[in-house]
Amino acid sequence: MTLIDTHCHLQASVFTPDREAVFARARLAGVQGFLCCGTEPQDWEAVSQLSRDQPGVVPAYGVHPWYIPENPESALQALEQRLTNEPRAWVGEIGLDRTFGPPLARQEAVFEPQLAIAQRFRRPVSLHCRRTWDRLLLYLKRWPVPAVLHSFSGSKAVAEQLLDRGDCWFSFSGALTQGRNARLPALLKFLPRSNVLIETDAPDLTPWPVWRETPGTRNEPAYLIYTARQVAEIWDLPLDETAKQLTKNAQALGWTRKTEVG
Ligand SMILES: [Zn+2]
Repeated sequence: MTLIDTHCHLQASVFTPDREAVFARARLAGVQGFLCCGTEPQDWEAVSQLSRDQPGVVPAYGVHPWYIPENPESALQALEQRLTNEPRAWVGEIGLDRTFGPPLARQEAVFEPQLAIAQRFRRPVSLHCRRTWDRLLLYLKRWPVPAVLHSFSGSKAVAEQLLDRGDCWFSFSGALTQGRNARLPALLKFLPRSNVLIETDAPDLTPWPVWRETPGTRNEPAYLIYTARQVAEIWDLPLDETAKQLTKNAQALGWTRKTEVG
């Protein structure tokens, strides 16, 4: 069985003491692909290094809405440089957030140029969106790049509009395993199976079965299996068929073309 973690942050310093072991456990659990997302120019080189050192790691570079730098212009130039040098790289994690971070206008002033860059370089984007669906839909219509909504939590109405736009995928995280409300499972059932992906967002969003045993546990790609199992249950499919579908979806998006997965 092969799984692809379509959004994680394995460059995070919390993985420094045992990063090799984290990758080894991931591979043992069938996770062969990792979209490793940068969040600000300071962590992009670490992402790049991982994509060179670790099979299956695809790099993504972006300025996260919580981490808008003093000088966004130089960050945007650095992003173009990265994409020029690294033809496999995505743009991400980028997005908009009304619950945290600087004022929305400042976030948008960095978000839209990053979409424009993604379009110019023909790269997919990995998107963060919290209570900003109105604005996100507007920008995504303006910039028709392939887009993955990371840890998707929008409404059915939002999903419908994104599906109408086309070239949108919906990535489910460990939040799906919490089972506290029926909203995410209902959303998953509603979406076409070909548009669904899974992710860990490691080191965050630890799946509930792990968290319940040991609260505070750092998330890692090996735990992607818990989300895959939950998807299988909701789809009412055997786990291996579910994994096949999810991996095919990630590959359709094109991001694994030049990695070992496939
Ligand atoms: Zn993230």
